[in-house]
Amino acid sequence: MQFIDLAAQYKHLKTRIDDRVQTVLDHGKYIMGPEVAELESQLADYVGVKHAVTCANGTDALQLCMMVLDIKEGDAVFCPTFTFFASAEVIAFANATPVFVDSDAQTFNICPEDLEKRILAVIEEGKLTPKAIMAVDLFGLPANYPEIQKIADKYGLKLIEDAAQGFGGEINGQRAGSFGDIATTSFFPAKPLGCYGDGGAVFTNNDEYAALLKSFRVHGKGCDKYDNVRIGMNSRLDTIQAAILLEKLAVFPEELVNRNKAASLYDAKLSDKYATPKVPEGFLSSWAQYTLLDDDRDVVMAEYKAKGVPTMIYYGTCMHQQTAFNHLGYQMGDFPVAEQLADHVFSLPMHPYLTEECITMSLSNS
Ligand SMILES: *Cc1c(COP(=O)(O)O)cnc(C)c1O
Repeated sequence: MQFIDLAAQYKHLKTRIDDRVQTVLDHGKYIMGPEVAELESQLADYVGVKHAVTCANGTDALQLCMMVLDIKEGDAVFCPTFTFFASAEVIAFANATPVFVDSDAQTFNICPEDLEKRILAVIEEGKLTPKAIMAVDLFGLPANYPEIQKIADKYGLKLIEDAAQGFGGEINGQRAGSFGDIATTSFFPAKPLGCYGDGGAVFTNNDEYAALLKSFRVHGKGCDKYDNVRIGMNSRLDTIQAAILLEKLAVFPEELVNRNKAASLYDAKLSDKYATPKVPEGFLSSWAQYTLLDDDRDVVMAEYKAKGVPTMIYYGTCMHQQTAFNHLGYQMGDFPVAEQLADHVFSLPMHPYLTEECITMSLSNS
């Protein structure tokens, strides 16, 4: 059994993907070829935003947001401590200060009450300028945007949605990637919509942001390619990856249904043993991960391993516990919920090609 079975997916899509890649090899426009624009248009339609601007990976997508929002030294950006490193990394890379926020115990996402407390503490201290909130759609579940947007509006902060894991998720029919002022995703192979290498995208309804993104991703280009009007980066999505993503996006809606079926099966079989993941009313998860909690996860994970079922820990270390963020001076106990999660979470195999048979077998008590 595979934790994420990319080979099963490729087998299913082989002819279509091979043909699409061959088309690129034939026309030879490897950088910003026609498939890139085609994909951007389809992504924007799917997500329900005006602009989708692709780039080299999900971390660059976040970094491009920092550039567009002019986040810099002296700014505070609020982000969950229980997330993947890149969310916090780009804030620090922009020379701003990540201010960590505790998690909601039910959804594992950023806790709106704690968020407001941390904003007030930064205002009170008066050293940093509160600038933006970066919420993360952890494990595929959109963060609580209705509440977070209210807080962003109340304190005049920009809202960034890190939907690297959230692509395909929804709140009352509104899709991940469309929340806040600007949103990002990652096409890393293991993400809900993955390519066969690195890739990412930024989503926004703001025309000015979209124009800036298109400039920043190609060395800060102006109207003419060789007139550089600002300092940017080299962060484009390869045409071959765009071609692969076009075929994967076409089947993504079916895959999302399958992921939700797998999650429901896990729920049914595991809910008397564990606290199974909570999806609030009106929310839809894209199930980047199916994550459980256990006081003795080492024992449980060893049992699964013995049955040939791989498990993983996402994430065993919070941002405030990372060596790179030692200098921020956080202490153990500053984020009680997130620390509990880091100590107890583990994830089961999750991908759209998991069969009922496979799940039943892996969960049987042998
Ligand atoms: C994967 C991930 C990223 C970074 O994406 P890459 O494409 O790997 O650079 C950012 N944020 C979160 C929450 C992620 O899971």
